[in-house]
Amino acid sequence: MQCPSCQHTDSRVLESRAADCGRSVRRRRECLNCDFRFTTYERVETVPITVVKRNGARETFNRSKLLHGLLRACEKTGLEPAVLENVVDDIEVALQQRSGREVSSNEIGELVLERLRTMSEVAYVRFASVYRQFRSVSDFVATLEGLSTGTEPKGGKGRNRLAVVG
Ligand SMILES: [Zn+2]
Repeated sequence: MQCPSCQHTDSRVLESRAADCGRSVRRRRECLNCDFRFTTYERVETVPITVVKRNGARETFNRSKLLHGLLRACEKTGLEPAVLENVVDDIEVALQQRSGREVSSNEIGELVLERLRTMSEVAYVRFASVYRQFRSVSDFVATLEGLSTGTEPKGGKGRNRLAVVG
């Protein structure tokens, strides 16, 4: 990292600290040549992620849209907005770490459910009912069974799947 003062290319790190909710690292550096101190930030390069919707339409992943959907589904469930924001952060990081740049809205829904399951049963069922668009009582029962046994397969196809309870 080039010194802003003398352009020397060697510096030593005095301090490293997580910043931006852990998404970047802030480093305090000192130039080995002139002792000038400066700060650098290191962050994961984020590439826009395309969401493929159920109807085949594509749109750029939008974290605030996901957050709003979650806030709506989790109203009066006792889950704090800050907690839901963490869920969204988590999912965004998970999406960024995948090799593909496309994700189906289905997969995002399952990622959300995976996290909600351990947080609030009411929120889980409510979000599932909105997102999976239950068509029948058996869809609903399958979701409930998956909730109580924890055997629901991850990343499944949403509706039309039955929880295998053994
Ligand atoms: Zn320098």
